[in-house]
Formats: sequence, C-alpha cells, structure tokens
Amino acid sequence: MRRNRDTETRHIFITGGVVSSLGKGITSAALALLLKRRGYRVAIQKLDPYLNVDPGTMSPYQHGEVYVTVDGAETDLDLGHYERFAMIDCTQQCNFTSGSIYSAVIERERRGGYLGKTVQVIPHITDEIKSAIRSLDSPETDIVITEIGGTAGDIESLPFLEAIRQYRHEIGRDRGLFIHLTLVPYIRAAGELKTKPSQQSVGILREIGILPDMLICRCEQPLTEEHFEKLSLFCNVDRELVFEELDVANTIYEVPIELAKQDVDKYILELLGFHVRDLELADWNDMVARLISPANGEVEIAVVGKYITLQDSYKSIYEALTHGGIANDVKVKVRQVEAEEVEARGAEAVLAGCNGILVPGGFGDRGVEGKIRAIQYARENRVPFLGICLGMQCAVIEFARNRCGLEDANSLEFNPDTSSPVIDMMEEQKKLTHLGGTMRLGAFTCELVEGTRSVEAYEASSISERHRHRYEFNSAYREQLTEAGLRIAGVCPDNQLVEIVEYPDHPWFVACQFHPEFQSRPLSVHPLFGGFVKAALANVRGT
Ligand code: GLN
Repeated sequence: MRRNRDTETRHIFITGGVVSSLGKGITSAALALLLKRRGYRVAIQKLDPYLNVDPGTMSPYQHGEVYVTVDGAETDLDLGHYERFAMIDCTQQCNFTSGSIYSAVIERERRGGYLGKTVQVIPHITDEIKSAIRSLDSPETDIVITEIGGTAGDIESLPFLEAIRQYRHEIGRDRGLFIHLTLVPYIRAAGELKTKPSQQSVGILREIGILPDMLICRCEQPLTEEHFEKLSLFCNVDRELVFEELDVANTIYEVPIELAKQDVDKYILELLGFHVRDLELADWNDMVARLISPANGEVEIAVVGKYITLQDSYKSIYEALTHGGIANDVKVKVRQVEAEEVEARGAEAVLAGCNGILVPGGFGDRGVEGKIRAIQYARENRVPFLGICLGMQCAVIEFARNRCGLEDANSLEFNPDTSSPVIDMMEEQKKLTHLGGTMRLGAFTCELVEGTRSVEAYEASSISERHRHRYEFNSAYREQLTEAGLRIAGVCPDNQLVEIVEYPDHPWFVACQFHPEFQSRPLSVHPLFGGFVKAALANVRGT
C-alpha cells in the first residue's frame, strides 16, 4: 500500500559517509546538471543538520561564504554550486536546517497547533522535514534532489535520515532513490585503496532502515574491478550502480563530465522509471576545454580580504573570477591577500605586479584600513578594480578621504563617532533588534546611468542584483563626492540608494553595493566579472 502518489515528481536523496568535505554539494549539482541536460525539470535543496536557523549569523571561518538567493534566503554555499552548475534558481525552499525545522515546530506548538499532544522528534520534527522536502514537489518538477548535510552517523543527522527513510517508503521504491557518497581512501603505506570505511558507513544507514541504491565513491586512485565487486557485495548495491568519482585534474566543472562517462544519470533515470533521452553537454565540454587551456595566457588578480585563509569564504567570488577567465579565454590566477598584510607591509609590497584588485564583502573593522589602502593603490596606479559590498563602501571612504579632504571619513559600522559618515546605516535597519535574517537581502532593481563602465558591461539599462548588507552610501555626501570626480553609475529606483560607484579617470574602476558573484555562471559570466577580467587582460598587455 502506498500513499502520496498524487504527484509524478521523483526524489533523489543524497547522503554522505565516512568524512565530511567529500564534495557532496558538487556531486549533487553535477547530477542536477546532467538530469536537466537529459531533458528533465529538476529542483534541488539542501537540508543542514546544524541548529542555526540559517548560516547568516555564522562566521565565514565556521561555515564558508553565505550564499544569497534571489528571494533573499541566506543559505549554505552548496546552493551556489547548484545554481552555477545546473542554472537552477534556488529559493527559500532550497535550504532548511535543524534550527529552521525546530523553530517552525516550536512556533506551531506555542500557537496551539498540537493542542493536547506531546510534541516529539518523531513524528513532529520528521513530519516538518518531510513537508520541507514536499515543498519542492510540484507538477512543474520531474525530479527533486535533496542533499543531506553532515555524515552518516552524526547524532544531528538522525531526524533527517529518518525523514527521508519515511518519505521514500511513502512514495515507493520506484519514485525515490538513495545515493550514498562515500570515501575510498588510499593508504599510502600499504599502497592500497580501502573499502572498509564505505562498508561501515552503509552499515550505519542500514541500521536505520536506509539501503542505498547507488554508491558514488570519492577516491584519489581509480578503483579496480575487484574494488567495485567488493563494494557491491558488502554494501548490497548492484555492481553497475557503484560509481567512482576520482579527484579531477583541473577544475570542479569536470565532475559532471566524469560522472556522465559512467552513465550515472542514465542509471538514475532508469531506476526512476523515466525515458532516457540524449545527453546534451557540448557547450559544457567546450567551456571546460577553454578553462583548461585558454588562448590568452594568464592574468593575476589580487583578492584583498579578511577571511582569506579559508578558501570557502569567498567561494562565489573565486568562481566568478574563473568565469571571467572563461569568457576572456584567459587563466585567472588569484593572489590571496590578507587585508592586514597591506596594513603591515604597505600596498606596494603586497600588490605590485597584479593586473587587477578585488575587494570583497565583509563585516567588522578588522582589515578595513588595509582594504582602503589597497583601493587607493588601485585607483592611483590605474590597476583595474572591482569592489563588492564592503569593498564598495571602502572605495567611497577612500575617495572621501583622499580626494575630498574628508580625512576622518568612515562608515558608522567602524567609527560611530566619525565627523564624516559617508557610509551610514540604512534607516529601516536602525529599529531592528534581531541580527538573523534582517539585512537588506535578496534581489533589487538598479537603474544604470548612461555612459558608464557599468552600462557598457551590462549592455542594459535596468538590472537586478542580490544584496546582503545593513549600511549604505550616505546620500548627504552625494554632491560633494560627485563634484570631486566620483561617478554614480547605478541607483535603486525604489529608494534612490546608490548601488554602483565608478572612478571615471581610470581604465576600469567599478564598485557595487550588491553581490554580482552570486549571479555568475560558467556558461554565462556576470557582466562585471567579464568586464573586470577583460580590463585585467588589457593591463597585462599594457593597452
Ligand atoms: N558590513 C557591511 C554592511 O553591512 C557590508 C556587508 C557586506 O559586505 N556583505 O553594510
């Protein structure tokens, strides 16, 4: 007897085993791309077992970048992979956490929604998780991919695993699929690949009633037939449904190509009862080929940040720079610069020789003076510059201090007593008491000004970009700054907030209050990243 058969949507649940950081997000994104390229409509979400309601209040050191969706959800960076690989626009329904699930249940309990009952993990939390999964189930969607964060065996993951077990039981085997991503480590001293951790991880899932249908094995050495047989036999998975995902040589964008070579997507469609249509991947293959061997050599871009030691902190920025390289047929080498290094050693010492300087977003005053000096260096030495969010605010501060004689200019975020608050807190922010989910978030329209670098890059007069900030360009200084030569290139039509500033007397100097990196894709670079890398290439050539 089966329930919930009222829609045709099929579900794929992806779990991880043995260790974290296996690239479950990239694998899920790659599968979403392949299934889409087989002609199916795919939605994708991530369920994270931690207790924060969303990652918005976590330090990038804890969690990496916070990825912002069009509708303003602050989410896990894996959603960035989903959007970049599969070109799927994610929404609030694409990332749930234990925190968001529990708070929904507790709020309902307070409203009297469970009157008379004892509220428990099973069934109330698991029901809430199931409704989060069901929220993507629709007549417009053929396949929903649900990635479960964490590793099998974590205490926190248990309600999520129980919920997906129930979900699949309810929709039936032919409509739901469990894929387990696991690690087959290479033990150097023995010169051997080991399948035992994967067997144990599948054992943990089996104990709670999940029998994976498919295994994808991350490995740094290719598996032999013997390994495949062993994994199949001891993990109880058909031999042809055990796949390997070897470390890729050049770029994560090779992952879908490698999975497609093994027909993973074809087997998924067969198991879910779908017709297997042809796979259309030519443009993706071309893009990867161009990325691996670009025709125009190399540009070096310095990213001057505050969380620079952690690669994941600026994930979307690094990806968008890579896309800028693909579009300009050039390799982008990133020089990661700790903003405090600029303070300690001076801009010239750490930035000399780079072909472009990017100052990304951030919070708090550590490193801000270094960022401001890096921007001054870019402006005065005519090095192409892209400022993003805090990077834009720092560009305004730099200009006010060094071109308008406002020596004390600052943001109220860093100096509440400044005599020249060129960056001010937004009016609606001043009344807020909660920090979580209360910034200016998500997509807003911006009207571009004719004759600017921005209009040239976008080839459009009206754009929509994603935001995540509390502070803004202080309009009281608009006249003074523009008279001194700063150009306003984009304004939000709803509230007249300044969204883009440029320095016209310069090869390419653009700074925006929004986050263009979230809308860049390998197959369609964001216009500002395309324009920035193009300017960096001109800098290499001295043109
Ligand atoms: N801290 C700044 C603000 O809140 C910039 C935010 C950001 O860079 N994302 O406005």
